[in-house]
Amino acid sequence: MADSAAKIQQLKALLQEAADLGSVNSVLGWDQQTYMPVEGNAARSRQSALIGRLQHERNTDPAIGHLLDELTPYAESLPYDHDDASLIRATRRAYEQNIKVPSQFMGGMYEHMGITYDLWTRARPANDFSMVRDALAKTLDLSRQLANYFPGYAHIADPLIDFSDTGMTTEKVRTIFGKLRAQLVPLVAAIAERPAIDDSFLRQHYPQADQMRLGVSIITDYGFDFGRGRQDLTHHPFMTRFSSGDVRITTRFDEYDVRDGLFSTLHETGHALYELGIDPRYDGSPLGGGTSSGVHESQSRMWENIVGRSLPFWTHYYPQIQSTFPKQLGNVPLDAFYRAINKVNPSLIRVDADEVTYNLHVMIRFNLEVELLEGTLSIDDLPEVWRARYTSDLGITPSDDKDGILQDVHWYGGIIGGQFQGYTLGNLISAQIYEAALQAHPEITREVGAGKFSTLLNWLRQNVHQHGSKFLADELIERVTGSPLQVEPLMRYLNGKFGGIYGL
Ligand code: ZN
Repeated sequence: MADSAAKIQQLKALLQEAADLGSVNSVLGWDQQTYMPVEGNAARSRQSALIGRLQHERNTDPAIGHLLDELTPYAESLPYDHDDASLIRATRRAYEQNIKVPSQFMGGMYEHMGITYDLWTRARPANDFSMVRDALAKTLDLSRQLANYFPGYAHIADPLIDFSDTGMTTEKVRTIFGKLRAQLVPLVAAIAERPAIDDSFLRQHYPQADQMRLGVSIITDYGFDFGRGRQDLTHHPFMTRFSSGDVRITTRFDEYDVRDGLFSTLHETGHALYELGIDPRYDGSPLGGGTSSGVHESQSRMWENIVGRSLPFWTHYYPQIQSTFPKQLGNVPLDAFYRAINKVNPSLIRVDADEVTYNLHVMIRFNLEVELLEGTLSIDDLPEVWRARYTSDLGITPSDDKDGILQDVHWYGGIIGGQFQGYTLGNLISAQIYEAALQAHPEITREVGAGKFSTLLNWLRQNVHQHGSKFLADELIERVTGSPLQVEPLMRYLNGKFGGIYGL
């Protein structure tokens, strides 16, 4: 026992060093996407690749493997949710994954990602897919190689999906997406029959500084702790964690659309509240982060949409946004504003999509990734197939690649595979978890209507956040809601809310 305690300490010390290298890389990445001048890109990509390779070397140190072997009998003597048992289990999973991939390969891949990201930042404004075509082809090649370090999969996308949503497979995602799609498409069609909602007043001039002030005021009410975090400007908003005492969010503002900055601020804050709520004792170990991209996205989408686009929320905050923008909104009634921010309108841009059509954007991307990896779709056909899928699934055709194939950073700053399913899984999980929260505390709705969020946040901390990666997504959902992941809670939420707004 005493021997086990000493070995746990040794293991934690090794893991802390690897995690610190990861945090160092996160600082480099955060800086690259916020303040770094563009000419710094090449050197920064090289530096990030070096740190990434060093981190991978630390994570695959045979000493970790030996300690895990020695600690296994101890872990087996403990309850499943014991901190040490969970640490050993999560470290074993990460270690087995890491040792399958050579450090040299990881280093080369990180460097390639940096180069591709840099190309993409120029290709998108130039609306020129050919500038990144070769790099993307290489990314596909590397993504396939990466998957093939994990032989025995049922589908080549499975190992890559497993990286971000452990336990998920191509088959499982297809089944869930198929069920969801069957119910979403009729809802989109029914809404399309109804008169369009006027949202023109949201597209007046809204000065950035006022938008920023409003956002900061709301996320302070949410519980974002500026003593343990910062908010900065970026082109593509994200959240990143350096430690339990330092979680960064980033945002961007469109001075001619008040939705953009506000809802992306609420979204990234949802991610940050998750990371800030993780038990600080898990810092520097595989337990010290959100458990999957789906669960992470469930938290961001909950605070952005289920809370932040609800009528009770705006009943409280509308006077505040009206007094911030009296010229723009002074004569707009609350109901018109609420309907406008929830307008359903098939569009080209995923991150700006309404709650109903959003998942159709995700499904397009998920299917394309799978087909690219399978080899049933080629990189050269990708821009055209993207346009064709938008035409058939959303009824609109991108007029250029900028808002088509070049739109999302994911394939240009990472691998191809496992990048998108988490967004829709997150929507499903958020609705299911929120139902459970309301069941436990029906007063949450009333509190949101008074600008108070502590009952919801404390319940989430207690049931979801504090655990970090102690439980896999499936285990967590089952523990928190009493059932496995389901499509029905999201459809109940969407049908209820948008049935009301559109009078269906
Ligand atoms: Zn997100």
